[in-house]
Amino acid sequence: MKTSIATVSISGNLREKLDAIAKVGFDGIEIFEQDFIADTGTPREIGNMIRDHGLEITLFQPFRDFEGLTGDARTRAFDRAKYKFDTMVELGTDLILVCSSTRPDSLGGIDRAADDFNELGQIAAERNLRVGYEALAWGRHVNDHRDAWEIVRRADHPNIGLILDSFHTLARKIDPNTIRRIPSDKIFFVQLADAPLIDMDFLYWSRHFRNMPGEGDLAVTEFMQAVAATGYDGPISLEIFNDQFRGGHPEGLARDGYRSLVALMDDVKRAEPDIKIEVPSIPERVTVEGVEFIEFATSGEEATALAQLLKSMGFAHAGDHISKNVALWKQGDIHVVLNQETTGFAHSAYVTQGTTICDVGLNVGNAAATSHRATALGAATFDQPVGPGEMDIPAIRSVGGSVMHFIDDQSGLSDVWSVEFTKSTDKPVTGAGLRRIDHVAETMNYDEMLSWSLFYTSIFDMHRTPMVDVIDPDGLVRSQAIKTRDGGARITLNGAETHRTLAGSFLAESFGGAVQHVAFATDDIFATARHMAAHGFEPLPMTGNYYNDLQARFGLETDQLGQMKDLSILYDEDADGAFYQFYSRPFGGGLFFEIVQRIGDYDGYGAPNAPFRIAAQKRLMRPKGMPRR
Ligand code: MG
Ligand code: MG
Repeated sequence: MKTSIATVSISGNLREKLDAIAKVGFDGIEIFEQDFIADTGTPREIGNMIRDHGLEITLFQPFRDFEGLTGDARTRAFDRAKYKFDTMVELGTDLILVCSSTRPDSLGGIDRAADDFNELGQIAAERNLRVGYEALAWGRHVNDHRDAWEIVRRADHPNIGLILDSFHTLARKIDPNTIRRIPSDKIFFVQLADAPLIDMDFLYWSRHFRNMPGEGDLAVTEFMQAVAATGYDGPISLEIFNDQFRGGHPEGLARDGYRSLVALMDDVKRAEPDIKIEVPSIPERVTVEGVEFIEFATSGEEATALAQLLKSMGFAHAGDHISKNVALWKQGDIHVVLNQETTGFAHSAYVTQGTTICDVGLNVGNAAATSHRATALGAATFDQPVGPGEMDIPAIRSVGGSVMHFIDDQSGLSDVWSVEFTKSTDKPVTGAGLRRIDHVAETMNYDEMLSWSLFYTSIFDMHRTPMVDVIDPDGLVRSQAIKTRDGGARITLNGAETHRTLAGSFLAESFGGAVQHVAFATDDIFATARHMAAHGFEPLPMTGNYYNDLQARFGLETDQLGQMKDLSILYDEDADGAFYQFYSRPFGGGLFFEIVQRIGDYDGYGAPNAPFRIAAQKRLMRPKGMPRR
């Protein structure tokens, strides 16, 4: 399998793009004319520069509005083609993309187009070049790969073939399995793009909203399965036009692209084990049982206050690390680690961000396989020297430069708590009845959400749920949950566009995003809230208006509503069940805890309550004496 990416897919100037694309492991690029028109080098110099990066030019594009013309217009189209062919020879590439015409004066007619391509094939053959024809979803007469294939078939020239593009086929809801009837030697090139399902004009949708395979809603895997079934083994190339990507970081985008291709081809190989295509063999998507631990980097007074908060929530100080200034706090199946070391990763996280969640540990089916799959998908491993008596637990870099560790039962890694920690208590801690981590909420820039959702869904057996808008009094925050099928592990990604939102101001203080809150699950939220109140926990106070509105919306029992008001418990319900939640007050620059109870099959996160929760947090966080603008 040869991997390729169109230079338009990522940001930067041509040289920056090439550096990024080569670095993450692509074999080649599709070059867009604009890229070298803007560059100071001659086509020959640019071609050499690309090859010096270890990259091949897999395709030259685009050539528009060629077929179906008559008279002078037809002559001019052939002249343009010859000019482009000369450029291709200079660049050192042999394949050009011709997309179906959108010209109002093109005539249509399968045979007319076939004749045009036969003639073009002869001109191309003289220069040892090949021409690939692509049906644009908005082409004037040809907008379906089946018609493009018929034109190529009738053109009947060895230098004329078909180019398939998942967007054009899937946007028009054309059955990708129709590709299975095309002979592989006539498929010259395959372009891949995904896109969110939005009902809009094809051209606008394509030029602004394409994204990497796996980031959108199109059946790109099914499309690629059909391509692979033909026996096609040429380049697979990402062609992504996306407004967000144009302002993104070239290397990050290139890495996401490479990750999406490797994950896609792995899915294709698993779905069609008999295909010829050569795909690196990597472990399959990893099962996540749950979140095993969260680790705070903290120090001094902040550490004391955090320990006090945990105590009021029913956690017990369950042990200390054998050689480090690291304490373990436990309740139910929850492990909270407080790291006060003055060297190492946690310390540097504390120095830059203050008290922060620097590390999240996932309990997975197989920790070694997780690490193997993650690195094959381009994730950066995280290593820190292992001290005497410590276990070497696999880890990678995660959101905002934080670390993610993998623990499993089969390799004994889940024994870390007894191996690395002295047991000041090994009794089960019931505390306030918190049982497990329900979800971990990560805050990031809105621009980074696609990238991190791809990170989770490509490495783990987790899927996205639809994005919801969370209304902050000062702007919009978008929230996307990533979860395992059984809900055993849930991670919510919250994308802020402005620093005036609560999420945005956290982002500004945490230098690029991280875990902002962690939610613990209880089976009896009223008992939990009372236990915690009796131990000095102060919940985030909600307004009287909130409860009046709740009464009006859901008609709750007066007695129950009174208790909820006393304990500052929020409520939501939908067709699947009900949801209770309450929050801690913010600490350490905007972090907070949440307590939840899910009733029935409620699968959400209380999004309708978020504006009131955020307003309450902002009231507490606003510096005293500073009037709100
Ligand atoms: Mg295309
Ligand atoms: Mg939450």
